[in-house]
Amino acid sequence: MSDIRLSPESWLLREKGWESARQDYFATILALGNGRIGSRSVLEEVPQACTPGTFIAGVFDDAGSIVDDMVNLPNPFELRLFVNGQKLSVETMQVLFHDRILDMRRGVLSRRTVFRGGLGGKFELRTERFLSRADPAAVVLRAWVTSLEGDAGLTVAGDIGVTSVNTEPFYELSKRHYCVEELRSGSRSSFLRVRTLHSGIDVGYSWTTLVAGKSHPSGAIREKLRKGRALPIIRMANCGESGKIPGSALRKYLDRGLAGMMRAGVPSILKKHEGEWERLWDISDIAVKGSPEVEKAARFNIYHLLICGSDGGNPSSIGAKSLTGESSRGHYFWDTEVYMLPFYALNHPRMARHLLEYRLDRLEAARRNAPLRGFKGALFPWESGGTGGEETPYFPDDKGGLYLWETGLFEHHIAADIPMAMMKYLEATGDRAMLRGRGLELLVETARFWASRVSWNGKAGWYDIKGVIGPDEYHYPVDNNVFTNFVARWNLETAADAIEEMAANDHPSFVKMARRITFREAEKAEWRRIAGLIKGTNPAGDGVIEQFDGYYKLKEVPITKWTRNGLPEWPRGVNEKNVQLTKLNKQADMVLLMTMFPERFSPGQRTANFRYYENRTLHMSSLSACAFALAGLEWGVGANAMRYFISSLFTDLRDVQGNTRKGMHAACCGGNWQMLVRGFAGVGIHNRGLSISPRVPREWKAMKLAVMWMGSLLHLEVSADSVQIRNDGEKPVYLSVFGWPAEVGPGKTAVYSRK
Ligand code: BGC
Ligand code: BGC
Repeated sequence: MSDIRLSPESWLLREKGWESARQDYFATILALGNGRIGSRSVLEEVPQACTPGTFIAGVFDDAGSIVDDMVNLPNPFELRLFVNGQKLSVETMQVLFHDRILDMRRGVLSRRTVFRGGLGGKFELRTERFLSRADPAAVVLRAWVTSLEGDAGLTVAGDIGVTSVNTEPFYELSKRHYCVEELRSGSRSSFLRVRTLHSGIDVGYSWTTLVAGKSHPSGAIREKLRKGRALPIIRMANCGESGKIPGSALRKYLDRGLAGMMRAGVPSILKKHEGEWERLWDISDIAVKGSPEVEKAARFNIYHLLICGSDGGNPSSIGAKSLTGESSRGHYFWDTEVYMLPFYALNHPRMARHLLEYRLDRLEAARRNAPLRGFKGALFPWESGGTGGEETPYFPDDKGGLYLWETGLFEHHIAADIPMAMMKYLEATGDRAMLRGRGLELLVETARFWASRVSWNGKAGWYDIKGVIGPDEYHYPVDNNVFTNFVARWNLETAADAIEEMAANDHPSFVKMARRITFREAEKAEWRRIAGLIKGTNPAGDGVIEQFDGYYKLKEVPITKWTRNGLPEWPRGVNEKNVQLTKLNKQADMVLLMTMFPERFSPGQRTANFRYYENRTLHMSSLSACAFALAGLEWGVGANAMRYFISSLFTDLRDVQGNTRKGMHAACCGGNWQMLVRGFAGVGIHNRGLSISPRVPREWKAMKLAVMWMGSLLHLEVSADSVQIRNDGEKPVYLSVFGWPAEVGPGKTAVYSRK
């Protein structure tokens, strides 16, 4: 019946049995995506009690809501089936058997459900669906319906419904962000075009439903089911949004795409899709020899990074919940640049480039944002959506008014996080074109921001950065958050270095940039001067560093209880409202900083700060445990590193934060990749070069993985004492292995042992 063969068990994620209360959790973890379109895996009959989600990267709208929402679009996988007049659905029939499998290797979701009808009869529904990785517009769903106890009548509703609404956040109630602009039925296919209400983006669907091999564009289709004989149904759709293609041309474009799909047929579309997934996994897979559990969980995190990574289409970034849920309204935070980008830069540089281009395209918006807060240069908003303006939401207060969530006013470290990510990407790829283009401008404008953001403290003789929120969001606003001060200094120095480098090596590009943004030499000297005088960025001694001014005066509250997942519980009497008064942190702040600039802190400082802040961090954000795990592994401190690793690696699989039903924790997936690759495989960037020095636990035996470095694909096999490198690129690669310089020629394999 089906021509899909499942991959080995280590690639499969299973939902066993039907449990209504768990359906949104499974809709998230089994989600499909091809980088452009993301689809929560709700059942084809779309039960009343589930939260469907169909998203296209970059499609936002703010009609009827306070800020941009990632629009919940019509769901092309919706299929309404009726047997003998009864809806084939888990809500209207008795479920005798239910099983779904996500094949992560192939990006295919399959299902088998057996129903008992209220009016009698026993029916089986099998489905398989995927969003083509080879053609980002192609959507395929196949279904087979069988009547198991006698002949029956089947009705198929062939339409794509327009019932989808945004349901987050709850206090805005549900809202539909689009209207129907065009709906037509031709002889072979139907076409639907919706338009977002305020942002005016057109999204088109060209589709057909084939029942028993015959094409039915829409409407109700009737067929006879013969006992024991599966009746095949195929839904094919071609969907996409306006932007590069004008809305008026969508129909022609998508109709042509659909016609191509119908000519090719499912087996051929599927083959191309699988081929593309194979190519992605050849680079991205991390095999962990001695631990099948860790290996599968690693694949799960990587699968989720792959389904939201894209290297084409309209510029877009990746939201906090990727394309798997409406939570955080699909907004882009620092999550993408600090937590996820390293994966893309070292695996799929074109996807990394795509993410950075979204920011570069919105440099102008960031420039408009800075003066709104009283500063110069470019200030990227804490939360971004379609336009790049500030999208951090307002919330209802208890006096009937609204207030802007403080992060939007004070969480400014994002201004440096974005250029830091760009530099990481440049180090891994050597992409000079980005720097020559708007890249250098990004460094300059963010440096200008920081130069205007500091304030001189005459009494102390240093620059303060006052009124910020650091990564730890429980304390706000605070002065001299060391994390923020450090990244500000980095930003100022890096912009000055890059200017000098460009002026020396590529003078024409430098002159062009300087003219475009009226850059003056004196600015550069000023940045260097300020950078050297920012408070707290030259830490001395081996002691604990105060996270921000006055932190030590806060109340000490010991953490005494941990959850089953090994993370702290709220101490008695402390809650989100009064936690400000205590030393308790929401998430890694100082420790995260030290993982980002390890060479700027002595081993003694790192250990002391790890121990101190470990006892005061609640890990209430999924961005935290992975940072502690990485730090613990790299610095050889923290008996708990393994515990943080496991709890972070399984964040969504075990629903550690209790809200996986609302979407994947995408930053955590990126952090988990960093734990595996940097923490265990010991692959990192030092002094702008690639270095490998593994810390693979003995019981894992070996890890296999690959990285892209300067355009060369390197396949690695690492264990506690050895490193094998196969250079599949066309150039020799120079790197450091176990601290020693090494060179691997193109097509060559080299093996190194720890001395
Ligand atoms: C975290 C932030 C993060 C945001 C979006 C918050 O809970 O504290 O660091 O950027 O979620 O994931
Ligand atoms: C997050 C902030 C975010 C705010 C509004 C909070 O839960 O911690 O980072 O800005 O929600 O979206």
